[in-house]
Amino acid sequence: MDKIISLAKRRGFIFQGSEIYGGFAGTYDFGPLGVGLRRNVVDAWTHAMNYEHDNIVQIDSSIFTSGKVWEASGHVSGFSDPLVICNECGAKHRADHLLELVGAKADEKMNEQEINVIFDSYRTNILCPICGKKNFGKVFSKNLLATSSLGMFDEKDEQVYLRGETAQGIYINYKNVLDSGFQKVPFGIAQVGKAFRNEISPRQFLFRKREFEQMEMEYFVRPKDAETSFDAWRNERFSYYERLGITSSKLRLKQHENLVFYAKDAWDIQYEYPFGWNELEGIHNRGDYDLTQHQKFSGADLSYYDDETKERFIPHIIETSAGVDRTILMLLSEAYYEDEMNGEKRTILRFTKNMAPIKAAVFPLLKNKPELVNKAREVYRAVKKEIPQIMWDDNGNIGKRYRRQDEIGTPSCVTIDFDTLSDDTVTMRDRDSGKQMRVKIEELTTVLSK
Ligand code: ATP
Repeated sequence: MDKIISLAKRRGFIFQGSEIYGGFAGTYDFGPLGVGLRRNVVDAWTHAMNYEHDNIVQIDSSIFTSGKVWEASGHVSGFSDPLVICNECGAKHRADHLLELVGAKADEKMNEQEINVIFDSYRTNILCPICGKKNFGKVFSKNLLATSSLGMFDEKDEQVYLRGETAQGIYINYKNVLDSGFQKVPFGIAQVGKAFRNEISPRQFLFRKREFEQMEMEYFVRPKDAETSFDAWRNERFSYYERLGITSSKLRLKQHENLVFYAKDAWDIQYEYPFGWNELEGIHNRGDYDLTQHQKFSGADLSYYDDETKERFIPHIIETSAGVDRTILMLLSEAYYEDEMNGEKRTILRFTKNMAPIKAAVFPLLKNKPELVNKAREVYRAVKKEIPQIMWDDNGNIGKRYRRQDEIGTPSCVTIDFDTLSDDTVTMRDRDSGKQMRVKIEELTTVLSK
């Protein structure tokens, strides 16, 4: 993991947030290559949701909403994690995570009393991961919603929150989308956007951030179809990751043992990260809870009239909820390799062509030969028209350029050499095998796009 973090920083994928001020916990900034990778992740998801399904539309709701949204959803009263503080060094930890480390079964959905009973029975075994001492206070629930003062000018103003998930923005717009006239149940609303949570101990790089990005899709169905639809979405989302090229043996489905009171079923798609199996995406059968709550709190009629069955009902919701950051961490973990080529050690990111932020690098064999540079610029400009994500690279010698492109996962390098000037062919070198072949310039974009 340290090697991935260091490469991500060195090559401009991901930086610690506010680094020059000593860092700001739970935040990371995306650099030039990170933005490219992130865009590929979001595009692939958008494609799988909106373009592969005729009945899924995308929205972009506000990060700030009326505070009532979060009261109705249950986040103000119940969106919490169990916090325990070390009496020796003051470090704050998730009690369920400390319990997991000593092999005890606990999860964040347990109430304060339940988790305190378990914590007390293991107290003598639990070490503080920071100072190594065994001296903790009581466990208590810490609400994860981040508050804001946006638009609040005195204490009578309603408390405002930064959204804890993107899903609520979908529920409160479900009627607007329906009334705009293009959808009938079953249909889905997808959204990609930032979410904020006061995570007790942000950790494991992109895995647990305080500001992160979600890709959520809420599928509105007839109540009788909820179970079938849930099974279909669970299978579809699992196979989506296989289609992305993720190693199948590193993916698994896990059913939740402890369900929140309204949930009918919930599964996680887990990935085997460098620190172990953990949630990548959640798939939930939420019943009619969300729309019923928002109907109750807002007074708006959120029922649906089905002209086929002539029935009126509150649609049930199947939710698929994935994290952009956890997907990126998975892609980096999958792609990172160290190997040897021509007797030299190298670090390589074996991204698939779809996910590679840079699809090809173009360079002149020598940068002090104007005839090579001019020809290389010409080739570069022609390819860029068809494949915008290409890079010009003429720093250092050719071996150094290959190493650098391998490290950022560029699948192909194209060199313009003296032969190019006479026969209009270039050398194309494959990242993984290091094999080189001559390609005609006129066929280059076709070969690169394969
Ligand atoms: P966990 O149990 O790991 O805290 P969760 O069950 O609270 O996660 P959900 O509320 O289901 O997560 O959120 C849906 C998705 O959003 C997760 O599967 C994950 O990909 C992403 N996500 C949630 N919390 C974070 C976070 N703190 N940092 C990065 N991504 C997150």
